[in-house]
Amino acid sequence: MRKVKKRKLSYKKTLRLLITLLIIVIVLINKNNLITLYQSKKTGYNFNTINVFHELGIYDDIKKEAYSTTLENIIVTEYYNPNYLTNYLDINYQEDKDFYENINKLITLGYTSKEINDIYKKLNHESIKILIDNDYLKDISNILDLSYFHEDNLKRYLTYNKEKKLNYENLITYVNANLDYKYYTNVIDIENPEDTSVIVNKYHKLASSFVPSDLETISDKCSRGVNRKMRHIAKVAFEEMCEAAKKDGITIYSGSAYRSYDYQLGLYNRYVAAYGFDEAETFSARAGYSEHQTGLATDILNARIDYISASDAEYTWLINNSYKYGFHLRYPKGKENITGYMYEEWHFRYLGTKIATELHNLDITYDEYVARNSNLK
Ligand SMILES: [Zn+2]
Repeated sequence: MRKVKKRKLSYKKTLRLLITLLIIVIVLINKNNLITLYQSKKTGYNFNTINVFHELGIYDDIKKEAYSTTLENIIVTEYYNPNYLTNYLDINYQEDKDFYENINKLITLGYTSKEINDIYKKLNHESIKILIDNDYLKDISNILDLSYFHEDNLKRYLTYNKEKKLNYENLITYVNANLDYKYYTNVIDIENPEDTSVIVNKYHKLASSFVPSDLETISDKCSRGVNRKMRHIAKVAFEEMCEAAKKDGITIYSGSAYRSYDYQLGLYNRYVAAYGFDEAETFSARAGYSEHQTGLATDILNARIDYISASDAEYTWLINNSYKYGFHLRYPKGKENITGYMYEEWHFRYLGTKIATELHNLDITYDEYVARNSNLK
C-alpha cells in the first residue's frame, strides 16, 4: 500500500516537472514575441508596428509618447521620414488619400504639428493643396481663427503675403477689401444703394441711374442757404450735429452734399483737366464711385467758409463728436492706401451712430470695417 502511493506521487511530480520544462522551452523560444506582445499592449501600437519600431531602433523614443494613429499608419508606408518622427506623434490622423504626402510637405514648409492639425480642422482638401503650393504662411492658426477669414480667398492671401509685409489681421482685411486688386478692377455693382451702411469705394459702383428717393434740403443755417441735399436720415443727423456744434461755439456748414452721377462726371473730368489724371485720382471719385451720390456724405466748411482742415477747432470738435450723430471721417490720414483717397479732413459720411461709434473706437476706416464684417457688402 505505502509503496504504491509513493510511486503515484512520484509519477505526478514527474509530469509536473515535464510540463514546467515544456513551458520554459516555449517561453524561451517565444521570448521576443512575448515582449513584443507586452509592448504592444502597453503602447497601443499593433504587434507588427512594435517590430518596425525595434528594427528602426526607435521603440525607446515611442514608448514615452501617447499613441499616434498617424505614426502607426505612416511608418509602414514609403512616406515615413525618420526626421519627422516627432511631428507624426502630434499630428492627428485624417482620412485623406493624400494625407501622408500632404503632412510631409506641410512639415517641410515649416508648419508645426499644431498648425497642421488646425489646417486639417479648418480647410478643405483643395485649400490644403493651395497651401502646399505656396510659402509658409506665418500665423496660420491665428488666421484660421479670424471670423473674417474666407477660405475662398486663400490663394489671394498667400499671393498678397509674398508682396506685402503685413501683420496677419491686416493681410486678411486688405485682401477682403480687394486691395490686392488694382483700383477700379473687379468692380462690384452695388445692389443696396439706399442702405445707410452701403459701401461705395473704388471697388463698389453705384448705377448711373441711381438717385436717392428721399433727398431733402439741409436747413439754411447749416448750409448758408445754399441748396445742399442729403437723404432724410443723414440730413436730420447733420442738422442735429450742426446745432450741437453751435452750442459749443463751433460753426460748421455743409459745403457739398448729394451730387448726381452726371454732376460727378463733370467734376471729375474738370479735375483731370486741371490737375492731370494721376493727381485727380487721389482726391476725386470717378462717376458712380462717389459717396456723394448716395446722399449720405457731406464735405464740411468751417466758420470761415473754407473746407475744414486738421488745424481747425471745427475739425477737433468733429473728430471728438461726429460719431455721436452717426458721422465718420471717411478718408483719414495714414489710410490713403486703404481708402484710395488722400487725407480729406472735410469729407464725412453718415453711417448711423452704431457703426460710426464702432469705427471711432476701433480707429479703422469703413473699408476695413466692411472687410471684417462679411454680412456687410
Ligand atoms: Zn467729399
